[in-house]
Amino acid sequence: MCGIVGYIGHREAYPIILKGLKRLEYRGYDSAGIAIYDGNDIKLSKTKGKVADLEERLEKEISTNGTLGIGHTRWATHGVPNDVNSHPHYSNSGDLVIIHNGIIENYESLKKELIKRGYTFKSDTDTEVLVNLIEDVKKKENIKLGKAVQIALNQVVGAYAIAVFDKNKPNEIVVARLGSPLAIGVGKDEFFIASDASPFIEYTKNAIYLEDEEMAIVRRHKGVKIRKIKDDSLVAPYIQELQLNLEQIEKGGYDHFMLKEIYEQPRAILDTFRGRLLSNEGIIKMAGVEDNMKKFLNANRIVVVACGTSWHAGLVSEYIFENLARIPVEVEYASEFRYRNPVINENDVVIAISQSGETADTLAAIKLAKSKGAFVFGVCNVVGSSIARETHAGAYTHAGPEIGVASTKAFTTQITVLTLIALRLARAKGTLSSSDYRHHLIELELIPDKVKIALESDAYVKTIADIYKNAKNFLYLGRGYNFPVALEGALKLKEISYIHAEGYPAAEMKHGPIALIDENMPIVVIATKKGHYEKVVSNIQEIKSRSGKIIGIVTAGDEQVKNLADHVIEVPETIECLTPLLTTIPLQLLSYHIALMLGRNVDQPRNLAKAVTVE
Ligand code: GLU
Repeated sequence: MCGIVGYIGHREAYPIILKGLKRLEYRGYDSAGIAIYDGNDIKLSKTKGKVADLEERLEKEISTNGTLGIGHTRWATHGVPNDVNSHPHYSNSGDLVIIHNGIIENYESLKKELIKRGYTFKSDTDTEVLVNLIEDVKKKENIKLGKAVQIALNQVVGAYAIAVFDKNKPNEIVVARLGSPLAIGVGKDEFFIASDASPFIEYTKNAIYLEDEEMAIVRRHKGVKIRKIKDDSLVAPYIQELQLNLEQIEKGGYDHFMLKEIYEQPRAILDTFRGRLLSNEGIIKMAGVEDNMKKFLNANRIVVVACGTSWHAGLVSEYIFENLARIPVEVEYASEFRYRNPVINENDVVIAISQSGETADTLAAIKLAKSKGAFVFGVCNVVGSSIARETHAGAYTHAGPEIGVASTKAFTTQITVLTLIALRLARAKGTLSSSDYRHHLIELELIPDKVKIALESDAYVKTIADIYKNAKNFLYLGRGYNFPVALEGALKLKEISYIHAEGYPAAEMKHGPIALIDENMPIVVIATKKGHYEKVVSNIQEIKSRSGKIIGIVTAGDEQVKNLADHVIEVPETIECLTPLLTTIPLQLLSYHIALMLGRNVDQPRNLAKAVTVE
């Protein structure tokens, strides 16, 4: 997690780094810090709290002139979020300064060795150990910073993206990555370093993405030299042109990124199937699927690996793949899969889902599946991300940057991609008749407009939020395709409002959660016309008999649930497998409004970070 940013060139580094940190704050935000070389010495300021807190402090504390600098927003792993543990960290001599994203797993043993050699430590972080290890190697061997970083990193176990510079060599920054992302923006006689391209997109569209186990020496006038950390071999820099624009990473008039991203869903879903869903011709075209059709068709099963919201999208896909394409599916938490010695082989297709494409556990699950011979297909949003590169093939969701920590458009676009794949396979296998197939394509094409209609419930959802905002617990119930939506609705509420919520398959309620129901318990029930409607209505009756408060998510025009529920929120009608794309919309809005009414930081909820790049 965490965001790192750096600059070396001819402009003032401070404003570039500060703005960059604000853009990266979604990645981690328990503390922030900046170090600038002012032509003579390093000026460093860091603080617990947000980038805005740092800004206040910087103005008082440091002269910020200088054309070389690094900055960090932290998501603490080692040591509580406080000023001392914040990055950047100095080496003991004060010559080196580092920022780090990731975890140095063997930091304790390295630290013991360094203490024996006379080093002292101010912070509890693993990062301070790394910068002193680099310093120790540098001094012992009397070598340049780049070489010292390389030797030090070969002694390190763990994950990192780092940027480090030496005040005695203020014409270079050394960067390296293993398991955490690192991009280098290439301008004219200037270079930008960042966890993703958002901090430098207004200065340059040319970027180099470091691969795992690569390091680079970034020199003010001489450019970028990339090497493999292990064997020292040189790597030719591959400069790619970015498609991202500034507008996509700004709030664009919305109060929060989350709200903007909720409202972007009609467009995002359209972008997901643009060029892939050709309804006039009655075909779905996805190169990653087409090129590997045999793998999919011969697979014994599909194993989905993912975490969090992506796992919920994966669970929706289990229903879709099995129902439409008749392929057995298992959905696994990547963090469990990677450590439980799963039975997996070359007859399996693994689909790995991750918005950022950097989720550490999902990446590890991919590596494991590949080592067992499985074909691995990635579904992610961030172009060029680690998962996109690590998988055999894949499909981007094309949702555009998602910055709000609580995933919204990532979820619906992941479901869209997975539906396209399932439909394509269903067609190839002949498990859907051609008229059914066409009908699905037409219905899918109508979804963006129907999402727009679902968004019209916003004002009404807000009034419901106001009634229940002080509830201590919420229950979310759904069946079939909408069971994962219930899980996702509960997760959204937990994440940003800090209200305890649980999602359950509606019928499972009788096996436990029903004991929780009383007149204080709001229960969100997804009861669309298609999909076990009568059964869900019976579940609603059971809740009603126990005085629970029912918020029904229903198909437009529904009368039966309306007569039973305390409130109903309507979504347009669609075919059953597409209902999650609509029913999830009011649940996103409900959690947004409740969180806002409770004064929560909607875009940056406590303890969370956007891209979970640590396991
Ligand atoms: N492990 C480092 C720390 O706790 C870096 C964490 C991060 O990625 O923000 O400070």
